[in-house]
Amino acid sequence: MKEPLLFTPGPLTTSIQTKKSMLVDYGSWDNEFNSITAKIRKKVVKILKGNRNYTCVPLQGSGSFGVEAMIINFVRRNEPLLILINGAYGERIQQICKHHKIKHVPFVWKEDQSLDLEKLKKKLDQNKKIKHLAFVHCETSTGIFNPLKEVSDLCKKKNINLYIDAMSSFGALDINANKIKFKAVVASPNKCLEGVPGINFVIAKTLDFKRCKGISDNLSMDLHDQWDYMEKTGRWRYTPPTHVVAAFLKALEQFEKDGGLKGRAKRYNENLNILITEMTKIGFKSLLPRSVQTPIIVTFISPSDKKFKFNRFYNYLKKKGFIIYPGKMAKRDSFRIGCIGFIGKKEMKMLTNQIAKFVKMEKISLN
Ligand SMILES: *Cc1c(COP(=O)(O)O)cnc(C)c1O
Repeated sequence: MKEPLLFTPGPLTTSIQTKKSMLVDYGSWDNEFNSITAKIRKKVVKILKGNRNYTCVPLQGSGSFGVEAMIINFVRRNEPLLILINGAYGERIQQICKHHKIKHVPFVWKEDQSLDLEKLKKKLDQNKKIKHLAFVHCETSTGIFNPLKEVSDLCKKKNINLYIDAMSSFGALDINANKIKFKAVVASPNKCLEGVPGINFVIAKTLDFKRCKGISDNLSMDLHDQWDYMEKTGRWRYTPPTHVVAAFLKALEQFEKDGGLKGRAKRYNENLNILITEMTKIGFKSLLPRSVQTPIIVTFISPSDKKFKFNRFYNYLKKKGFIIYPGKMAKRDSFRIGCIGFIGKKEMKMLTNQIAKFVKMEKISLN
């Protein structure tokens, strides 16, 4: 089988250099591997311009493991957490709270609408006991941008600790530690940083990792202990996915070479523009207005024509070498196409050409 191109929000298409970096077997106690860990920790903090007060603690497991770790290590069970929810990843945070019996208040709004800040202010005024707020930067279930600066300013004013799920935005949308006040940010290598899946990382002030001691009710996910052990030994507390970590360093080096955050945002925005332009020409409609559309993933409404069957569409594209993503909306039939990964204008064009062919071949009406 020819290797497909992934138009998905992670795992995604990685470069050949990143793939090749996984051909080495490192000993997890070896200095060489320890130096890889040290480098990724530094480089990641640099991306959000964190000063020396900040540090990064990587953890084994997919992105959700990181979100869960962040919440259960930083939020004491009886200190209410407000969760902003406009999609599946906000809901997952609520699920985490339920599971760990963390006091929480959901703040839910429609998944294709932008956040109403006035309503949020009112909600916080009515709930004076709220001490923490969980926020999903790009809600990947639709691709919507949630207003980070506004929410962080509000939290700052009200003295509320902010936790950012930046899983799908980190490396492409700006999060500047000098401008955004947050308690912790969580992300993973396998989205805009174009690494492979298997780990996640939490960024916070060293002092705050110290203060986490004893809060986690899960041993493997104890970020204080992971941090403490890493500081003392340079090693991961339990077996790290060594190949994944090596690939992450390679991916970060390419990220820097590509012009960092700016370079990445530029390429993804070009991908987004081509995708929307070409899909609109074919007759597809995207869900979100451009003002809140991230250059990360786009939700398209499935055509109402009964001749359109997602499975047929998916399998046709797969045969041609392209993997797209099903929709993740509660109420509307949709599908998603990612703009991220080691892909550019050429790949975007190749994909949309095949989509146009499919629509023509199946005689799908798009009005
Ligand atoms: C991908 C993603 C996650 C984590 O998902 P995993 O499948 O566990 O890696 C969490 N939040 C957001 C916003 C994401 O895009």
